[in-house]
Amino acid sequence: MHIDLSVHPVIDNHCHPFVPARETKPYERYWTLSHLDFSAEDLKDSLIYRMVIRELARFLEMPSDAPPDAVAEERTRLYRGDTPAYLRRLFADAKIEGLILDLGYPVPEYTGYSADMSDFRALLPGVEMDTMIRIEPLLNRLLARDMGFDETKTAYLETLVEEVENNGAVAIKSAIAYQTGLDVDLVDEVGARRGFDAMMRDGDRTGEKAFRDYALLLALEVCRERGLPIQIHTGVGDSPVVNLSQFNPILLFDLLSGEAYRDIQFVLVHAGYPFTGEAGFLAHTYPNVWIDVSEMVPFAGVGIRDQMMRILEMTPVTRVMYGSDGYNIPEMFWFSAIYFKRVFGEILDALVGDGTVGQNFAREMASMVLTDNARRLYLSR
Ligand SMILES: [Zn+2]
Repeated sequence: MHIDLSVHPVIDNHCHPFVPARETKPYERYWTLSHLDFSAEDLKDSLIYRMVIRELARFLEMPSDAPPDAVAEERTRLYRGDTPAYLRRLFADAKIEGLILDLGYPVPEYTGYSADMSDFRALLPGVEMDTMIRIEPLLNRLLARDMGFDETKTAYLETLVEEVENNGAVAIKSAIAYQTGLDVDLVDEVGARRGFDAMMRDGDRTGEKAFRDYALLLALEVCRERGLPIQIHTGVGDSPVVNLSQFNPILLFDLLSGEAYRDIQFVLVHAGYPFTGEAGFLAHTYPNVWIDVSEMVPFAGVGIRDQMMRILEMTPVTRVMYGSDGYNIPEMFWFSAIYFKRVFGEILDALVGDGTVGQNFAREMASMVLTDNARRLYLSR
C-alpha cells in the first residue's frame, strides 16, 4: 500500500519571517542561492524552477503544461491581490502547522529591513510560530560600538539572555561558518581577550576567530542554563560569500568530541549539504546531534531523494527534522513541504517494498521527521 504523506502535518524547524511588500525581484530570481547575475533564461530553465512552476500550476488549477511565465504571473496576481487569503490557502495545501523562525534574517544591516513578528503572525493566524535568536548580528552590533573586551562580553551575555527571554526563543542560532569557519576551537577567556585586542587593534583575523569561537562557547553556556538547543549553519548558503571549505560539519570535531559540551543539543542546519554523509556520521556518533534538512530541501531538487537516503544511512530517525529555510517568498515553505513529503513517501514505500521496515514503522518515521522530533526538541519544555 502506497504511503501518502500529502495530508500529514508539518513543522518547519528552520525558516525565516518574510515581508510580502519586500518582494521586488522577478519571481525566478528567488529560486537560486546565488546573488550573482544569472540570466533569466538560466534561472527559468533550471530544474528547481520548473518543478516549482508545475506544482504551482496544480495549486492554481492551471494546465500542467501552462507556460511558466503565465503561472508565475497568476501566482503574483493572487498573492498581491489578497495576500492573507493566498497565504492561508498555500499553507493549508502543504499542511504546515508550525514554524521555528530564525530572526537573523532579514536584518537591516544585511537586507535593509527587518520583519516585524506581530505583522508576520497576523499573516498566518493558524500557524504556530516560535523563534530563535542568531548570535552574529548581535555580536556584530556590539563590536561596532568599539568597547573593551569586558564590556563587550557583559553586554553580549546580557543581551543574549534578554533576547532569549523577551522573544521566548526556543533555540539559539549560530552562523559562525560565514564569519570565521566551523572549526571552532575551545578558546578560554585569556585567549579570547588576546584575540579581541588584536582584532580591534588591526583587524587581525586569527584574533577575530579566537574571539568569535569564545563567544559561541558563551552562547552554549546560555543554552545549557536554559535547556535550549543550538542550530549551527553547516553546508550551502548565501553564495558567493559561502566558502564551502569552511562549512563542512566535520570541522566541528573539536567542539563535539570533547566532554565539555556533550549535554548541549546541536542541530546541524542544512544537513551540511553537500556534506550530508559527514553530517550523518556526526549524528550517528554523538547522541546530542540532530540534523535539519532545510535549504537542501528545496535546493537539491531532484537530488533530495538521494540526499535523504545518504542521511538515513547512519542518522537515527529520531534525529532528522524537516525544514525548508523558507525566506523572502511563501512558496519556498510550501513547495519544500509538498515536495519533501512526496519524496519521503516514495522512500518509505521503497523501504517497505523491499522489506527493510514494516508499514507501521514507516509511518512512525514520517511522523518523527515531519513533526515529532522537532516538537520534542524545541517545544516540549
Ligand atoms: Zn536560514
